[in-house]
Amino acid sequence: MRRDIFNQDHDIFREQVRRFVEKELVPKIEQWNRDGMSDRASWLKMGEAGFLGANQPAEYGGAGADFTYDAIIIEELARVRAHGLMMPLHSDVIMPYLVNYGTEEQKRRFVTGAVKGETILAIAMTEPGTGSDLAAVKTTATRDGDSYVLNGAKTFISNGQISDLVIVVVKTDPNAKPAHRGVSLVLVERDTPGFIRGRKLDKLGFRGQDTSELFFEDCRVPAANLLGREGNGFKMLMEKLGQERLVVGIGAITSARRCLDDTVAYAMERRAFGQPIAGFQNTQFKLAEMATEVEVGQAFVDRVLAAHVRGDDIVTEASMAKWWTSDLLKKVSSQCLQIHGGYGFMMEYPVATDYADSAVQSIYAGTNEIMKVIIARRMGLDQRS
Ligand SMILES: Cc1cc2nc3c(=O)[nH]c(=O)nc-3n(C[C@H](O)[C@H](O)[C@H](O)COP(=O)(O)OP(=O)(O)OC[C@H]3O[C@@H](n4cnc5c(N)ncnc54)[C@H](O)[C@@H]3O)c2cc1C
Repeated sequence: MRRDIFNQDHDIFREQVRRFVEKELVPKIEQWNRDGMSDRASWLKMGEAGFLGANQPAEYGGAGADFTYDAIIIEELARVRAHGLMMPLHSDVIMPYLVNYGTEEQKRRFVTGAVKGETILAIAMTEPGTGSDLAAVKTTATRDGDSYVLNGAKTFISNGQISDLVIVVVKTDPNAKPAHRGVSLVLVERDTPGFIRGRKLDKLGFRGQDTSELFFEDCRVPAANLLGREGNGFKMLMEKLGQERLVVGIGAITSARRCLDDTVAYAMERRAFGQPIAGFQNTQFKLAEMATEVEVGQAFVDRVLAAHVRGDDIVTEASMAKWWTSDLLKKVSSQCLQIHGGYGFMMEYPVATDYADSAVQSIYAGTNEIMKVIIARRMGLDQRS
């Protein structure tokens, strides 16, 4: 079905992105998966092509384009399974914090570099002891003269090894009541003494990403590295996480479609009992059901995307899109694997990667349970809030 959210300019842009991705990134994906991380040259090429921070303001190097253009880039990366290069995290999750809450000096220093691919970004919220309950972070940033001194540990941080700038979620007031009022965001640059990169974690899927532990041991940063106001960190996170959830929805529905398309091709080719397996009614029904669900999911994601571009409040709908599409992706990749038979279990078939990669999508960017907590709260069901 034709997707109404795109005009001719978007289509031309998609062609450009697709050509770039096929030429510059697809040949690198295997290497990223082997190395457990992307390479700097690819980031610089993405920056040069104008595919990082496309919707950020022109004064900091962005193209000032609407978010639909970033959605196209996210889709084109997901289509080829280029999950190792965390452009969506860099451009659409982290950059907006810098652009919206940064001082002029922070924007000039960091956003311009991020748009060029010279400053790769990470955000460190999760800790060994807390993930969903963000207000319970234990990492502290203690004011000392013109500095903050950070102590604590973070885990599961994407771009953990390759990043040049990390937004660290800290407690500037560990005794604040309620606890979330003590949360602040502090910028920590590569090579700051006391900023230690831990293990690159061994994962089930997304093997091309350098998900890592980070440690802060008496890590001293200038007080000017505070992002936004002290104690305002939780509010800033809540304001910007909506787009992150939409980003996951856009990627998940694209991945589901790709997995399905590959499986349709496989089912037409693979023969059993003297006929293509696509000839069995069970295969047809499974593929027909999945094709329906992918179209339904796409229609909803497109609707949320259009609302976001208009500037509507999408907190509820982005949460819905995130949990529904990531659950759908898990279902689609599992059923497509089954249709591949034993070959589906072999890593040489992309469906095996899809199956492994799908698992995390209901966990990161806020678990799907937390998405439902948000939706229920917005429906007025939680009287405590
Ligand atoms: C590959 C990968 C990349 C990641 N990248 C980043 C990153 O770049 N930066 C970052 O900061 N973090 C990152 N994360 C961490 C991720 O955001 C967390 O894993 C996630 O928020 C869940 O936190 P947790 O693992 O501590 O689980 P927990 O919070 O311990 O949750 C465990 C289970 O309890 C459920 N649960 C918790 N609270 C509730 C509740 N109130 N109601 C119902 N159920 C509940 C959860 O849904 C889940 O099923 C990444 C994780 C992975 C796996």
